[in-house]
Amino acid sequence: MSDILQKSFETEHLSHEEAMAVLNLPDEELPVLLDIAYAIRKKHKGNTVGIQILTNARSGNCSQNCAYCAQSRDSEADIDKYRLVEYDKLLHDGLLARDKNLSRHCIGLSGIRFSDREINEFAGYVESLKKEAGTHICCSIGFLTETQAQRLKDAGVNRINHNLNTSRRFYSQICSTHTYDQRIANIKMLQHTGFEICCGGIVGLGESRADVADMLIDIREINPQSVPVNFLIPLKGTALAGADVSHLSPEYCLKILCLARLMMPKSDIRCAAGREIYLKGREQQMFCAVDSIFASGYLTAGGQSIEDTVKLVTDAGFQYRIEPA
Ligand code: SF4
Repeated sequence: MSDILQKSFETEHLSHEEAMAVLNLPDEELPVLLDIAYAIRKKHKGNTVGIQILTNARSGNCSQNCAYCAQSRDSEADIDKYRLVEYDKLLHDGLLARDKNLSRHCIGLSGIRFSDREINEFAGYVESLKKEAGTHICCSIGFLTETQAQRLKDAGVNRINHNLNTSRRFYSQICSTHTYDQRIANIKMLQHTGFEICCGGIVGLGESRADVADMLIDIREINPQSVPVNFLIPLKGTALAGADVSHLSPEYCLKILCLARLMMPKSDIRCAAGREIYLKGREQQMFCAVDSIFASGYLTAGGQSIEDTVKLVTDAGFQYRIEPA
């Protein structure tokens, strides 16, 4: 294990076997892993934690069948459904992000395909938002054509989130309406257009530890600016409502976050959905690896308020980061 940790510190690539050794580390050795993850995060990210908020700009009615998602075509979850949020709501959240000095305003839109007219309408919102709030904007917005991607780039979108979610091997178990390779092709096109990339996944979908290792290896290939690691919140009405998440112990979750840091030392490692459930009380350890978190909840699940999130960061002995737009 000490060889693996030394290799990580020197930013050499860990192999699948080495990644598995980290995930299979006995719990009593976790403090050693946390120490080295902290040394790496300190070297590249200092002691700061970026906080961002998320607006669900288009909700529900998706044509896809991602098993974890309350907005999927097969979901019976009781959620709000709308085609495009009122601009005033987006502006409210943008101003909140600006006034609270948060790192970024993330905007999610359900669905996988958009018409040019829809993209134009949304791009107009982004242009106004950039003028009025001026925040760094990251959008989660399905598969785009190159023309649509350029339109959003010109409007001022800084970053696009497109997750791999799980391993290539396991992908067909969680979604059959599009493929892993379509996701990778979309991300490459977005990178080529000049966007920063946010790319991560979800743990707790029924995948094996080897799937987690493979997913992180594929994400490392993409070399994203940020890596959101979500832990499944089994939402009522979704296909995974009854998923067994008993293996998502704080120790296992921490090992995954540390592995993400070891494998992608310079990226933002974000503990996203599920942190309030699975890592409660272990935040100080979480921040050994993680330098980014959400406040105010997720697309279809609640979370911690901005004030409580800021307090969480400072109580753990870290500073929260203010990023210029
Ligand atoms: S994750 Fe995205 S593509 Fe999949 S069902 Fe949900 S909104 Fe649709």
